[in-house]
Amino acid sequence: MEHEPGKLYVVATPIGNLDDMTFRALNILRRVDAIAAEDTRHCRRLLDHYGITASTRSFHEHNERAKTAALLEQLRSGRSIALVSDAGTPLINDPGFPLIQAAHETGITVVPIPGPCAAIAALSAAGLPTDRFAFEGFPPRTRNARRTYFERLVEEPRTSVFYESSHRLIACLEDLAAVFPPQRRVVIAKELTKLHERLLSTSVGQAPDLFVHQPELSKGEFVLLVAGAPPLSTEELTGEQRRTLHLLLKECSLRTAVSLAEKITGARKKVLYRAALNWQAASTNQEL
Ligand code: SAM
Repeated sequence: MEHEPGKLYVVATPIGNLDDMTFRALNILRRVDAIAAEDTRHCRRLLDHYGITASTRSFHEHNERAKTAALLEQLRSGRSIALVSDAGTPLINDPGFPLIQAAHETGITVVPIPGPCAAIAALSAAGLPTDRFAFEGFPPRTRNARRTYFERLVEEPRTSVFYESSHRLIACLEDLAAVFPPQRRVVIAKELTKLHERLLSTSVGQAPDLFVHQPELSKGEFVLLVAGAPPLSTEELTGEQRRTLHLLLKECSLRTAVSLAEKITGARKKVLYRAALNWQAASTNQEL
């Protein structure tokens, strides 16, 4: 007799505080035939805490491709499986993507069981705009790569959300300070839902010193949130910056004038460009 395929449940688990487990997540973990867990011993502690006896299978970034076929086989034979990671929502910087992708391709029903996620928890309480945001995961690990990567994000208008490990936190904040305007807001969300939870709201320019002077503050788990670039408005140009750009526009091409004005005045290139285009349009209209 043909079996109905089992369902694959993607179950979020706490990011620190065990009370953040939902009733639905507990019911699913009690009912499924097996739990695919990033670290089976870590998962067992959570299961023991709630008296759940379900059997676990190891499923982490180094074996997920190899294990996917076996899990799909079990699902096809009618067994239901829950996927959990060490903390938070699976697949959010955690293993699971090949399995979920393959499940969709083979017609297995995938059911999300929502719950904690460090990025979303941090965003909800950071006091930065949340209507649109860019989740960036972990920045590159080396200084040069990280600075180049931040340079591409300086003009991002949405709030950027990063994960960072404690031993790279200070270097990462230093690179943010080297690339972003010093007054840009940054929120450092530390140890969310745990005993030493802190939400530190400061400027990009001041952030590194906060941690350099209090080394104990840099222990734990962190989410970094950087405010988006302010909308382009030529009103942010000072009188001196405008005069410099105006003089240069009389002598050189628009591109060269903008580039020189940026170097001379330190104003944002995009803003200078917008001002130059405005002037050009205004003078063309006068000529007509
Ligand atoms: N899947 C997880 C989620 O939904 O948030 C994220 C897993 S990722 C491998 C781990 C990173 O998430 C940590 O290095 C840290 O940046 C962030 N993180 C996890 N738990 C956290 C917490 N309690 N407080 C702050 N950041 C946390």
